Amino acid sequence: MSTPLDDLSLGEARAARDVLIELYVPLDYPWHRTDDVFHKFLAEFLLRRTTRVVVARVLPALIQKYPTAESLARAGDDELLTLLRPVGLPTRILALSEAARLIVRDGMPSSRDGFLTLPQVGEYVADAMLLYGYDMAVLPVDRNAWRVLYRMLLGRDEVAVPPRSEERAFRHLLTTLVADLSPRQTRAFHGSILRVAWETCRRRPICDACPVSDSCRYGAKMVPHSGPSVPPGSPAGEQL
Ligand code: SF4
Repeated sequence: MSTPLDDLSLGEARAARDVLIELYVPLDYPWHRTDDVFHKFLAEFLLRRTTRVVVARVLPALIQKYPTAESLARAGDDELLTLLRPVGLPTRILALSEAARLIVRDGMPSSRDGFLTLPQVGEYVADAMLLYGYDMAVLPVDRNAWRVLYRMLLGRDEVAVPPRSEERAFRHLLTTLVADLSPRQTRAFHGSILRVAWETCRRRPICDACPVSDSCRYGAKMVPHSGPSVPPGSPAGEQL
């Protein structure tokens, strides 16, 4: 069965990826300033459903009061809900408390499957932990990443539920795109995807102000004289 990926070469996809890596500017949120895997888990867990501005505000107090899984596992529900009130989503906060108890019992997971056993931890948080907590070249893909990469690579808006064959092919492409990257390059790739999603590639894209419009198929339709071109020497004929 044909998919929208059929006319995309690996060379073009890698060229777009490299533009994003080149664009990277290190971010400086509280979760970037710690090497503690548990603290990174707290951040990734909260960031999944809460804005980075709110998480940046509550995370330092959370870490100060509950610096370890043991201390968080002992926290009373009421005091935790009070501390994390700006986050909202009380059931999610209680799930974080339960996750801490499981981490105390079983140890901090270090694999995708291990993270997926924790309550309200999905593939994105699991992959983010592998990338940011364990220095593995894994690309976390959420709706922001799908939106940016669908537009850049395929020239179209993401579809809410793509056909299984298309989703499989796109996930395979993303795995291929990080296969030859170091963890550091993968973090740069991911960081720039997030930045582009926040700043310009929103639900209504602002293509004429976007720093990657020259490397984006969607942008080429929206901004005259922009659009991807495969640099000389790229294996443009290599198909996915
Ligand atoms: S050029 Fe437009 S569609 Fe492409 S990444 Fe930028 S904002 Fe998104």
